[in-house]
Parts: sequence; structure tokens; C-alpha cells
Amino acid sequence: MTDRLSHDFDSEAFAAAYHYDGDDLGATPVGDRTTFKVWAPTASRVVLNLFAEGYGGDAYRRVDMTLAERGVWTHTEPCGSGTYYTYSVTTAIGTHEAVDPYARSAGLNGRRGMVIDLVSTDPEGFRGPSAVRPLQSYTEAIIWEVHIRDFSGKLASSKYRGKYLAFTEGGLVNEHGESVGLDYLKQLGVTHVHLLPLFDYASVDEAYADTFNWGYDPLNYNVPEGSYATDPYRGEVRVRECKQMIAALHEAGIGVIMDMVYNHTYRADSSFHKLVPYYYYRYTADGKNTSASGCGNDTASERYMFGKFMADSAAYWVREYRLDGLRFDLMGLHDLAAMQRVEAAVHAVNPHAILYGEGWVMGATVDGSKQANQYEIHEIRPTGNAVGGIAVFNDVIRDGLKGSVFHREGRGYINGAPWDNLGRVIFGLGGGSGEGFGWRVERGEVINYMSAHDNLTLWDKLSFSCAGAEEWRRVKMNKLGAAILMLAKGTPFFQAGEELLRTKDGDENSYRSTDEVNNLDWSTLQSGTPAYETMCYYRGLIRMRRALPVLTDPHADVDCAVAQNGVTAVWIAGRGERVLALLNPHAEPLTYVLSEPYLLVADGTRAGDTPLAEESGPVTVDGHSVRIYKSKI
Ligand code: CA
Repeated sequence: MTDRLSHDFDSEAFAAAYHYDGDDLGATPVGDRTTFKVWAPTASRVVLNLFAEGYGGDAYRRVDMTLAERGVWTHTEPCGSGTYYTYSVTTAIGTHEAVDPYARSAGLNGRRGMVIDLVSTDPEGFRGPSAVRPLQSYTEAIIWEVHIRDFSGKLASSKYRGKYLAFTEGGLVNEHGESVGLDYLKQLGVTHVHLLPLFDYASVDEAYADTFNWGYDPLNYNVPEGSYATDPYRGEVRVRECKQMIAALHEAGIGVIMDMVYNHTYRADSSFHKLVPYYYYRYTADGKNTSASGCGNDTASERYMFGKFMADSAAYWVREYRLDGLRFDLMGLHDLAAMQRVEAAVHAVNPHAILYGEGWVMGATVDGSKQANQYEIHEIRPTGNAVGGIAVFNDVIRDGLKGSVFHREGRGYINGAPWDNLGRVIFGLGGGSGEGFGWRVERGEVINYMSAHDNLTLWDKLSFSCAGAEEWRRVKMNKLGAAILMLAKGTPFFQAGEELLRTKDGDENSYRSTDEVNNLDWSTLQSGTPAYETMCYYRGLIRMRRALPVLTDPHADVDCAVAQNGVTAVWIAGRGERVLALLNPHAEPLTYVLSEPYLLVADGTRAGDTPLAEESGPVTVDGHSVRIYKSKI
């Protein structure tokens, strides 16, 4: 340790003197006065700077704050909603201007926090009953992952392209007369939309929004991103419009999940660092920031006040914005105790919220046994009457179905390598509860997917891995994979547009590629095209899953075997129902003899919530295809 790191932040003495549990950090307006509180125990001076605007001009007032209990600096000022503010903090690294990490809104590009009367930003009826059905288990959710700008950047009929408000526009159609935008989502039938980061991130200039970014570069965690607002200068606009987006989705019966990125910040010299230097990040023995995230500055969730910040922030979003779930980026970088605090804080607000994260094993910046990764996540328990703990993404079924994300040409069960990947698919069908992969989860708390924003789109992956295959064959492979995901125990998840054969022209990491590459192409939604047929099939599978309680039973029994003629047979039983699925990953049709009459609910081209036919005896499972049956036990 170098001297500058030797504040002994991890000592009992520091904890006893400075750990703060209050729920009043930030700027709290009451009447015509606002109380500011910020935690900076190693600072020798903190000055509150007040501004009339969120951008430009000088502070109209600078006032010394008072050091109160446990390292919290405080000041009450006769000012109210609409006041912008920063802190000038003097510590061992000098005097620096910081934005309050607890700021609820901000001016342009997040350079000043804003005092805001949050109640005034609620859309009408926002606090009333929600049309979103509360989850009774995570397995009931069906998640569509989208970036706010991707959703409407190419939505020609939208008045709010690239903005929060594009999610509020009903009645939009594309050039082929097909419903697009919000109406499309309603018809598709997904239960939840998962939005890529919508907290304030740094890399897009909010004044121009002339570059694209996914947003994994956090600036102000508790502030909505300004480039998605119609006015990024006035802090109340981003808050109100973000809530309007959520309200519109809720009115459509669709839950909203937000991607949180607590594992790193945009820069190492963030406001956190300016307030309490060297407290919030992890360092190597020679004093450099660790970078297990690859982003240059891993945060230190194990530090009490950052764990508190994560829990406070997560609960704040769920309470204030009525979010229905959160996704945690590179969760394996966080320690289990911090994630348990997050779980408890969120579920105290909404016990039905779905929580999940990337449980990859991440470097050794935290002791492996304490990492919130897929091997250890079972340690997290649901608290109170919470519907679940924290689920993890299932990379086993992801790569098992379509091949490794690390090799473009790699194949999986659906695209030409079924025998090499059968075990992975069976593990996925069983909800991550089987043996052989070193990790397992309870209650189907696993996110099953083939594509997300990272890596190739599914269609691009099929194009690279099956370069010689005809388009119709790749479409069948795609549908087969979708059918397996909708059968698997856990939560089905897909990247927006996977159901429309979305392509990014082979771009594997489009985090700062053009809008042209990233935006959803709604023009592909045209009756009679392969994209349209694929979407219809996804829609039918979603209806099938929602109509068969056995498929969302977190305790369902799942058995798989290679049966007659090489058909993969899957038996799923629970809640008084039974499903038999016959999977054929091969090009040639296969015959299977049903031992009793069954009701056909899906085949390779059709799926839905009503049986298609009753069948018994020998049936033919088409190549790259399924037949899914139900019967009463
Ligand atoms: Ca921003």
C-alpha cells in the first residue's frame, strides 16, 4: 500500500466512526428550503456551489458546508426545485468540483446536480394500480432487450425518434402498414422490456446526440440520461419523460427492467473519487486501479458505503420510477454481501421485481468464493416475501444452442453440432439445475437466451456458422432455438429484433457503432417475408408459454433423453400438466411413435395458445424443428 491509500478504510475504527446508514444523502427540498448532505469523511472542507442553470454561467452562491456526524457534510439553504449544484471538495488530492452521487437529476451532460421536486414529475396516475401482472416467480417473465435509441431511431412515423417518448406513441405503422413501436410490443406478447443503460452516461454529448453509445460508461447513477430527453438542459424534463415512457409501457401491461452498471464508472477520477479519494475503487498493490471489468476502474462493492450506494440507488429507481426489475452488469465483480444488500433493498420496495445479472467469473479482485458469480449466486437468498433471489445469465444454453460467442464459425445444437452440445441444452432445459457445469441455481433463477446486445446477433451468428446453408434452413434453425428457449425452465430473454432476423452486418461489438448498424429496422416487418414469419412464430411461442402453467413452474420436473431415431425427447411435468417436446436438430425428418394421444400445441412453423390437433402413434418431426405436445397427467 502506498501512503495515499493508507486511510485504513477497512479498519474497525473507520467503520465505527464513519459508516453512515441514513437515508437522507442528496438534496432534499422541503417547502422553500433544501437540505444538502454528502458523505466525505476525509475532506477538510466542502463548499456547496449553487447555480441558476444546469450549464454555463458561474455559481450565484458558494457556501461552506458543516461537518456533522459520521463524515456527513450538511447545509440547508433557502432554495428549491430547479436549483443546480456541485460540491468543491478539499482532500489530500487537492480541491475538486464533484457532482453529488445521490443527485436525482442534472443539467446538460451531468455536470451539475439538480434539486428536484420529484412528485411534480409523476405522470397522471403513475402511483396508481399497475396493469403489469406481479410475477409469482421469475420464470413467468419473457424479456425483450432493447436500447432506447435503437427502438425508434429508424421508426419513421415517430415524432420522438431516439427518445424516451417514442415508447409512448400508440398507433404507429411502418411503410407496409404493420404496427410498429409500442403496439408491436403489445402484440408480440413479451411481459418485460429490458432497457440498456438509461442512467446518465458520459459518452454521448447530450446537446447534439450526434454519436451513438450503448451507455456502459456511468456518470450519474441516479439521474436519467439526457440524450433521450427532448430537452437535456432542464433536469426535470429527463425525469418526467423517463417516467412517461415507463407509464406507457405499464399501461400496455409490460414491465420495465433497467440495466445497472455499478462495477465501474466512466473515469477513475469520478465524483466518488473526488469526494473520498481511494475509497470507492479497487487498487493493485502498487496503487493502480484494477481493471477486471476491462473499463479501467473497478468499483469496490465490498466497501460499506459503496455497497450502501448500490442498494440505495437500486431501490431508488424501483421506488421512484416504479421499475419492475434490474439487470446487473458484470455482477461477478461485486461481492455477495453487497448483492444481498441490493436484493433486500429492492425487494423491500417491490417484492415482485425481477433481479438478474451477468454471473461471469471475474478476475481475482474479490476473493472468488465471495464473488456474485454463477458459481456462488445460490448464496443469495430472497428476503421477506420476495419472489426470488438474483438470477444469472445462462451462457451454457446460449453457447449450447448456437455455438460459442468467441468463435464466429462455432456451431451449437441448432446449427449443425447437436451431439457436442446436447448436454448444454439439457442443462438449459432443466433451468440450470443439472450437473456437469460446476454451477447450478434454484427455482429456475436463470436467464435463458441466444442473443443479447453483446456479440453477434443470432441471425449474423447463423450466417457465419452456416455460411453454406440456404436462408430457409437458417430460419428453421433460428425457430428451433426459439422453441427450445420457450420450453426451458427459467426466464426466456432475447435481443430486440432477434424475432425479425435482426442483423448488425457482422458487428460483434456495436457499442459505439453507427445508428445505421444499431437501430432496429422496422421496415423488415412485412407480411410474407422470412422475418415476418419468424416474428409470428415467436409470438405464437410466447402465447404457448403463457398458456401452459407447467412451463413457468419453477419446480417443474424436466427429463430429457435421446429417444427413438435420434429425436431429443423432453418431458416437463408440474402444476397438474405435462408437456412432451420432440426436438429434431438434424436436417432430415425423424419419426417418433407417441405412446398415447397428445394435443399438439406447436410444430416447426406454428405455435399458440390453442391446440392445433390431437395426435397419436407415429408422427414426423421435420428437420431443424420441433413438435410440442401437452397432456393432462
Ligand atoms: Ca449523459
